[in-house]
Amino acid sequence: MGCLDGKTALVTGGARGIGAAIVRRLATEGAHVLFAYRGAHDAARALVNEVAAAGARAQAVCADVAQSAQIAALLAACDAAFGPAPNLDILVNNAGIGSDGQDASLKSGSEELFDRMMAVNAKGPYLVTQVALPRLRDQGRVVNIGSISGKVAQHFAAGYAMGKRALQSLTFSTATQVARRGITCNLVAPGAVATDFIAALRERPGFDETNAKTTPMGRMGQPDDIAGAVLMLCRPEAGWVTGNIIEAAGGLAI
Ligand code: NDP
Repeated sequence: MGCLDGKTALVTGGARGIGAAIVRRLATEGAHVLFAYRGAHDAARALVNEVAAAGARAQAVCADVAQSAQIAALLAACDAAFGPAPNLDILVNNAGIGSDGQDASLKSGSEELFDRMMAVNAKGPYLVTQVALPRLRDQGRVVNIGSISGKVAQHFAAGYAMGKRALQSLTFSTATQVARRGITCNLVAPGAVATDFIAALRERPGFDETNAKTTPMGRMGQPDDIAGAVLMLCRPEAGWVTGNIIEAAGGLAI
């Protein structure tokens, strides 16, 4: 028996990386998980099959969280999967993009990249949360995946850091709006995690070594490290924990 038996969960950006680890973890603990992805059809299909083979339940929907029409379709899929609202126990706003090797600096980052990052990293979670809240059952959970970048100065990735700081603000607004319903909202802020997200950075000579050296716990994060923090917040015991930023970064930004 898992700690999330009988619960339902919606995870954005669930086909790969940290999102996929969260889908696996929540499903393994008994939740019926619906996850969204943008273009990784094969990875989404493989994950659905992997979860089913483990005797758990996950479904996938292709939906771009920067597009309100696609968010509406995502929530319609949620109703189809879980029945009439309120039908949701857990929402994880995980989908996010970085610069993917492009110049995202304050000095010379492009307006187009800034707009795209803000659309996915800040507007997306805002819109998804807006339509998901009426579907959340009392005692539910909202977990936003932010970043250490939302805490520390990062002139080399200023637009990304701004979006993650905005997500902290959304976390506080959400937490107070739903507190009387016993619903919690927290943000998990990872440090560097070994996924495609930082593949371009990791091609730089010495990146992994420097990261390990500057991280007090001496290694780079893995997707499961972040999924563990999300599960911790979704467990029944965490019902009084809300409006917090939980750093899952091996002590990186202490
Ligand atoms: P990945 O690039 O490995 O995965 C990102 C996921 O988000 C993919 O499933 C992708 O879908 C999905 N996605 C991207 N844009 C959209 C969109 N517009 N609509 C719907 N889904 C979308 O990244 P990570 O797993 O590493 O990152 C997950 C979260 O963690 C992000 O919010 C990121 O900012 C944050 N984070 C990551 C860190 C790291 O070092 N990896 C550090 C700190 C924070 P698809 O697969 O279909 O393209």
